[in-house]
Amino acid sequence: MQVLDKTQLKNYGLGLNAVDPEVFDIIKREHQRQKDNIELIASANFVSRAVLEATGSILTNKVAEGYPGRRYFSGCENIDELENLAIARAKELFGAAHANLEPYTGSQANQAVYLTVLKPGDRILGMDLGHGGHLSHGAKFTMTGKHYDCHFYQVDPDTERLDYDRILTQAKDIRPKLIIAGASAYPRIIDFQSFREIADEVGAYLLADIAHISGLVAAGLHPSPFPHAHFVTTSTQKTMGGPRSGIILLGEHSAPEFARKIDSAVFPGVQGAVHVHAIAAKAVMLKEAMSPNFVAYQRQNLENSRILAADLMARGFRLVSGGTDNHLILLDLTEKGITGKEAENRLASVRITVNKNLLPYDSQKPTVCSGIRVGTSAITTRGFGSEEIHCIAELIDKMLSSEPTVNTIAKVQDEVSRLCGLHPHIDSIYEQNGHKFALQSPYQLQN
Ligand SMILES: *Cc1c(COP(=O)(O)O)cnc(C)c1O
Repeated sequence: MQVLDKTQLKNYGLGLNAVDPEVFDIIKREHQRQKDNIELIASANFVSRAVLEATGSILTNKVAEGYPGRRYFSGCENIDELENLAIARAKELFGAAHANLEPYTGSQANQAVYLTVLKPGDRILGMDLGHGGHLSHGAKFTMTGKHYDCHFYQVDPDTERLDYDRILTQAKDIRPKLIIAGASAYPRIIDFQSFREIADEVGAYLLADIAHISGLVAAGLHPSPFPHAHFVTTSTQKTMGGPRSGIILLGEHSAPEFARKIDSAVFPGVQGAVHVHAIAAKAVMLKEAMSPNFVAYQRQNLENSRILAADLMARGFRLVSGGTDNHLILLDLTEKGITGKEAENRLASVRITVNKNLLPYDSQKPTVCSGIRVGTSAITTRGFGSEEIHCIAELIDKMLSSEPTVNTIAKVQDEVSRLCGLHPHIDSIYEQNGHKFALQSPYQLQN
């Protein structure tokens, strides 16, 4: 029986442009968009060529379930070595006693923690989505929100910072089984020790979700969640600059009790077979993060964020909490008389990419918002330094402080082109910047 004829077999060797010009063309246009836009979405970054190569490698062909040495399929000898290497690097980089590298995303890493310590209906106390928290912390329309009894703490209305006394009072009231410390839109240091004291007081477990700040933590530029948190989860594509994926880490106090339980909560608890190509990409990311260049990169990221915050405040913008300690800032546009949605659209029209964001105690709907969130991780990777940041602050001011004229829009577009031209290739960002590795054409695009 002839299953696959010769032509079909030959087609397996053809490139994307020959097999699927439509998809090829979309990728090509997206590549161009990434080059031509100033990327200020705080959760965005650019991966190195090495990470990209691992992501697109033949490892995607390998089926593996379970963990190194305990697989449900054979032929896993290379994969076992790879996953063990990634695990060892994660433990070393973060000072963890146990690491699970299999979560497909940060959200699934969180779900695995919930499955490990919670029964349906148990109480969670996490940060309010509108105050900087994340969907995966129990928003009511998510699986987590439906399965567990989710409660939320907010920032102080005056300081717009976490108030640990208020959170303690609330925790005593609610008696959660799990407290989550971690945010997607909080520009200040998170005090994991205070969170642990609160958790201990009410007999709760503490999950530190460092999805946004893990790169800063790895570089020693944000206090580590260890030894305070029982569980630490992270995405790997944000400040870490790795593939779109997740990691779970345990410290030496919780590893003896929870290592095996976490592993079985990831697989088979919430996931299926391993994304082996993503394990490889995470291993590469972790190696990159161990180099002194990575620390230099994160320092520059913080410096860029600080400069952008100072410039915007000098231009009359109000920043939530009055500034930033990390890679992101939240702009309150109420006094400028425009909504977050309008600001996002105006900036998009000049190829500056941001997202509208709810502010603490926001009166607008989530689809409109009173503010925008701006982060510096991606442009820092691209090589932007203080001079470019000063220019970006000026451009944001021109676009948002008053209704821009056609003339202004054209001028700002020219300036965006000039800035992107200074760091032309997202393809060669790392070497230019002295930070990571040279990257040629990610997709070897022809024509
Ligand atoms: C981004 C983020 C996550 C997970 O996001 P994924 O897209 O699933 O990787 C989880 N928690 C926080 C606080 C985040 O910011």
